[in-house]
Amino acid sequence: MFRSAVRCLRICPVGQRNMSNSSSLTGKVAIVTASTDGIGLAAARALGKKGASVVVSSRRQANVDRAVALLQSQNIQVTGTTCNVGNGQDREKLIEVTLQKYGGIDILVSNAAVNPFFGNTLDSTEEVWDKILSINVKAAFLLTKSVVPHMEKRGGGNVVFVSSVGGYQPMPGLGPYCVSKTALLGLTRVLAPELAQSNIRVNCVAPGIIKTRFSSALWENEDVMDEFKKQLSIKRVGNPEEIGGVIAFLCTEDASYITGETITATGGMSGRL
Ligand code: NAP
Repeated sequence: MFRSAVRCLRICPVGQRNMSNSSSLTGKVAIVTASTDGIGLAAARALGKKGASVVVSSRRQANVDRAVALLQSQNIQVTGTTCNVGNGQDREKLIEVTLQKYGGIDILVSNAAVNPFFGNTLDSTEEVWDKILSINVKAAFLLTKSVVPHMEKRGGGNVVFVSSVGGYQPMPGLGPYCVSKTALLGLTRVLAPELAQSNIRVNCVAPGIIKTRFSSALWENEDVMDEFKKQLSIKRVGNPEEIGGVIAFLCTEDASYITGETITATGGMSGRL
């Protein structure tokens, strides 16, 4: 008996088998919003590389087509559709496309955000607040609410919100945006205990400055970057892949005891105690 146990361990060593299984997302279906560029695209790629089937989306069909072609060329199981997350019909369409193509939903990465305002917060208008809170917070919640029943049908799932280091430490000129990102930290904390009973984990990632179009005003300006670098331990901007990997990790069984948590990935920029 001992000999056969040793033989079995040689064929499939328990430690290795558990490690590879627990980091795999094979058979899982993931929706990633705002995923035709930047962090969303990197998250879609990281989830796909772990074996998930991925649904990418954003507002523009041409961007969706480009992202789907790119990910397919990297051997990722992927489909795509347009979805402006601020539009309820678009959100429902995103879910329908996912169900029709892959038959269920296991993962939601809520990544979309806008920032139409830069300046002193007291100069921001009602329209600015409506837009920022509607896209960055309300749509994230409403999409979560719509996918939860489908995750429950699968016996559980994972939700990851994309916040920002600005949600902890507001950046000058970005007041309303930073408030919206703080709200996502709260949404994570609120939903995690409510959804734990459905075996759904809810987590959040707070990136620092990542080299994407969204943040180009920061990293293209050398003076601004020199100021930021003083706050960084790793003296460079981050790459989208350095956030995508964290998001994908949170959706795996390797993170099975993590919920209600926000992981900062900031190159050491101090954002919390
Ligand atoms: P990005 O590279 O500029 O990509 C933005 C993506 O969002 C594009 O695919 C765009 O495609 C899509 N999009 C924009 N508005 C949308 C909407 N209403 N509905 C659906 N899709 C929409 O941006 P990013 O830097 O990766 O930002 C992604 C997330 O990371 C945001 O939540 C942002 O707040 C957060 N973040 C970024 C940084 C950073 O330094 N980059 C730092 C902290 C947090 P279409 O134009 O086709 O819609």
